[in-house]
Amino acid sequence: MSSLRGEHAVVTGAGRGIGSAIARALASQGAKVSLLGRTRDSLDKLAAELNTSTTTCVAVADVTDGSAVQAAFARVREQFGPVTILVNNAGQARSAPLLSGDDSLWDEMLAVNLGGVYRCIRCALPDMVQAGRGRIVNIASVAGLTGYAYVTAYCAAKHGVIGLTRSLAMELARKNITVNAVCPGYSDTDMVRDAVANIQAKTGRDEAAARAALTSHNPQGRLITPEEVAQTVLWLCGASAGSITGQSIAVAGGEVM
Ligand code: NAP
Repeated sequence: MSSLRGEHAVVTGAGRGIGSAIARALASQGAKVSLLGRTRDSLDKLAAELNTSTTTCVAVADVTDGSAVQAAFARVREQFGPVTILVNNAGQARSAPLLSGDDSLWDEMLAVNLGGVYRCIRCALPDMVQAGRGRIVNIASVAGLTGYAYVTAYCAAKHGVIGLTRSLAMELARKNITVNAVCPGYSDTDMVRDAVANIQAKTGRDEAAARAALTSHNPQGRLITPEEVAQTVLWLCGASAGSITGQSIAVAGGEVM
């Protein structure tokens, strides 16, 4: 129960969904966990829950805002010291056919899903280099490994996250810092609830049919749970995963191979 004792983990987008599950998993192993996100209420609620078993702090920042991200990292570093684990989880998935979406959809998907990862790594990496160890885990998606209709910008951003992961892993290979991506399939969070509502609105299908359209992508015929994603992240953050770097690990019931 204490394999991550002494580590300081920052989880972005920690207020709900997969990010909350990751924060809980890291805290369960004794890491100090900093919860970074946009919405203070949900972060405070999770911090109150986790503070019964571990030490947690909250920093509010939008990952598209470089100076807010820098201020958030300064705040958590002041509280818990150098960052040794970074989980880039904050993300958004807006959909539209390429010609219907405006430039702002493209800009926003790249800024949150790819730019946010870059900005947080720039803030955390100097601590890891100085400490001589570190773990960076980027929550990409199966949309980083294959294409899906109507989410061109999201797919492009997530493919970018995988390229960033591979390249940075090579750059840091001799520094005892690993960089990996975890690629969930459709998971049981608000993001999928929004996608189901969107399919219903666009196609007139009922909720069960709209949800089935998404679960049919997974050979196991179900949604992934946030906890399944979190357990893979936890493994990558542990000492036993020291030789795993530059990888993109699908947690998707066999959807991509
Ligand atoms: P979610 O339930 O919608 O939660 C997204 C989280 O990201 C929220 O905490 C949200 O904060 C935060 N966030 C969004 N934009 C942000 C920004 N600009 N700055 C800071 N925080 C921001 O989504 P999820 O399903 O847990 O997704 C987590 C990650 O998994 C994302 O990177 C997503 O692309 C990836 N993923 C999800 C699925 C899926 O099917 N659910 C599949 C593959 C990959 P607020 O609460 O303030 O909005």
